[in-house]
Amino acid sequence: MTYYDAVIIGGGHNGLVCAAYLARQRLKVLVLEQRPVLGGACVTEEMAGCKVSRTSYVYSLFSPKVVKELKLKDQGLELLERNPPSFTPLLAGRSLLLYQEMARSQEEIAKFSKKDAQAYPQYEAILDRIVRFIDPILHQTPPDFNQKGDWLKLLRLGFKLLKLKKDLPVLVDLFSLSAYDFVSRYFESEPLISTLCTDGIIGSIGGPMSPGTAYVLLHHVMGEINGHRGRWGYVRGGLGSLAEAILRTILLNGGHYKTSCDVSEILVYNNRAIGVMTKQQGAFYSKIVVSGADLHNTFSLMLKPDQLPADFRLALSDIDYRSATSKVNLVVKGELKFNCYTGPVPGTFHLCETSQEIEKAADDAKYGRISDRLILEGCVPSVVDDTLAPLGTHVISLLVQYTPYKLAEGSWQEKKSELLDKVIARLAEYTNIVDLDILASDVITPVDLENDFKLTGGNLFHGMMNLNHLFSFRPVPGFANYRTPIENLYLCGSGTHPGGGLTGLPGHNAAREILRDKKWLCK
Ligand SMILES: Cc1cc2nc3c(=O)[nH]c(=O)nc-3n(C[C@H](O)[C@H](O)[C@H](O)COP(=O)(O)OP(=O)(O)OC[C@H]3O[C@@H](n4cnc5c(N)ncnc54)[C@H](O)[C@@H]3O)c2cc1C
Repeated sequence: MTYYDAVIIGGGHNGLVCAAYLARQRLKVLVLEQRPVLGGACVTEEMAGCKVSRTSYVYSLFSPKVVKELKLKDQGLELLERNPPSFTPLLAGRSLLLYQEMARSQEEIAKFSKKDAQAYPQYEAILDRIVRFIDPILHQTPPDFNQKGDWLKLLRLGFKLLKLKKDLPVLVDLFSLSAYDFVSRYFESEPLISTLCTDGIIGSIGGPMSPGTAYVLLHHVMGEINGHRGRWGYVRGGLGSLAEAILRTILLNGGHYKTSCDVSEILVYNNRAIGVMTKQQGAFYSKIVVSGADLHNTFSLMLKPDQLPADFRLALSDIDYRSATSKVNLVVKGELKFNCYTGPVPGTFHLCETSQEIEKAADDAKYGRISDRLILEGCVPSVVDDTLAPLGTHVISLLVQYTPYKLAEGSWQEKKSELLDKVIARLAEYTNIVDLDILASDVITPVDLENDFKLTGGNLFHGMMNLNHLFSFRPVPGFANYRTPIENLYLCGSGTHPGGGLTGLPGHNAAREILRDKKWLCK
């Protein structure tokens, strides 16, 4: 029997990042993943001979510190920028393009409102200052309000907040307002408002007018690509290439992994984690166990209720896993052309006419209906990345909102083809999709996200990123430091600070805490 220093449950990108940091310190690590491929919601899979980013499809949030420390560029990570990064076509034949260059974006915005064009640099500058303030906090372990030892950390944070001066009220707005209320303070024109609001609704069940969505917006502008703040791009070979680069670092440092290996139980003796039991390959024993699976999978499915304190279980039951997001991937013969634009679109396109339209689609989902006016955020990465598809063939990634996990009528099994029809019909309003040969389609509903990717409720982020589940309250108050009530059991997935998205930070922060506790494990 092989004995490991650390068994990591789940080969999502955070589990892999955590494993890589531990392996670099010469810990003997084993990553166990239930799917046949590593990466979790960060995978490239094959469809009709093409490479498709099945779930996550754009890159920005991943920590440059992690890229550098794990030398991911040496392991094949290649980031591709897009210009223009954002395109919003309108049914009336007009469109809004946002470019990497401020002056070009202002020219575009001025077509709708000169006042908005003037306000745009100020909006970007404010968000940039807030992001610079928050970025170091994302890399830290949140303090525990009830621990005297953490009060100094809290005091330091308080001083930093005061240094924000006139930006402090903006930060409070971002944590409390709706995306619409925040954005419309700066701007008056659609489609600029709706385009910016789309960052606030990703993975959310509410529309852009729901309080709390301004924070989701902030979360989605915190990233960078190749040193350019706030921009999104692609990973050559699809998002799975990110997971593969991290895996190479693990293997180079002597780590191990197993796929199609489903952990059924965390083995606990005297309130200490001592290993895991798997469905396919029996038990694996280790000095510590780290879970990158979501909190429901970890605590409700791999442990028995009496192994956890009652107040901890109660706090876990508050985590909100609701979701209304689906993903549709298409492989098509020919080029997707927009009615109001000549040439291929390299960046993300947003199919939403106004913020009111998005809000109405969210209302449908609230009552368990798949909206007739679905909100689509999509891209054709094969326009920029020639490794994805043969010449003349393209892959289309579509994030589809709002498609509620719980349907008022029928099941997702029955509604899958209806969803695909609705998505194609929506795309056809703006593009030539009906003239293209659809070689393959892949519809991933919230229920598929739960069953296949083990995302409870289909929630993209291992639980909503509402204020009551952020920072010191993520996943639950008193346990934001990646530790759990069970000794030697740690957490490293998106359910922990700083939450979802391809940041690598829960994995990075968890590894730091583990190494702090277990210096003696380092060889
Ligand atoms: C459709 C979709 C689109 C998205 N688009 C983007 C995007 O474009 N950009 C972006 O930055 N973010 C995006 N996100 C969010 C982002 O992908 C996730 O927040 C992130 O991938 C979560 O990473 P993780 O490692 O924390 O968890 P996961 O990726 O969920 O990994 C957890 C892993 O644990 C495994 N697991 C669970 N239970 C067990 C078990 N019992 N035994 C063994 N293994 C188990 C799962 O199979 C999974 O591989 C998207 C998410 C989805 C679902």
